[in-house]
Amino acid sequence: MSDCLFCKIVAGKIPSTKVYEDEDILAFNDINPARPVHVLVIPKKHITSLATATAEDTLVLGKILAKANEIAVAQGSPDGFRVIINTGRVGQQEVPHLHAHIVGGPDPVGPMLKRI
Ligand code: AMP
Ligand code: ZN
Repeated sequence: MSDCLFCKIVAGKIPSTKVYEDEDILAFNDINPARPVHVLVIPKKHITSLATATAEDTLVLGKILAKANEIAVAQGSPDGFRVIINTGRVGQQEVPHLHAHIVGGPDPVGPMLKRI
């Protein structure tokens, strides 16, 4: 996807602060962090969102979650973290390349959602 912001980051056409990379996934610091630790973990392959992911994406999606603790600990959140994957209009996803936000400490990140 030549016009996709995060594909451009994968291709190195837009700079990012990488914190983890392997053949399938890339993790980099969010440009506008909401917590002291705020990392985005993305598949290198363009997947628009969880709404368009398929069974073929199962391995890479699992890898994003399986690496989350290692990334959080390395970035300074050793006692837990939160993973957020905003999806589509209702999820208020802004960048249409699937990404998991890893947000963390050292302090607790706050309440999950405001209840109805
Ligand atoms: P979402 O609302 O889930 O789509 O989140 C998009 C996230 O991408 C936001 O937290 C932005 O701060 C972040 N973001 C946008 N552009 C960049 C960039 N060039 N490098 C790092 N993070 C970015
Ligand atoms: Zn993309």
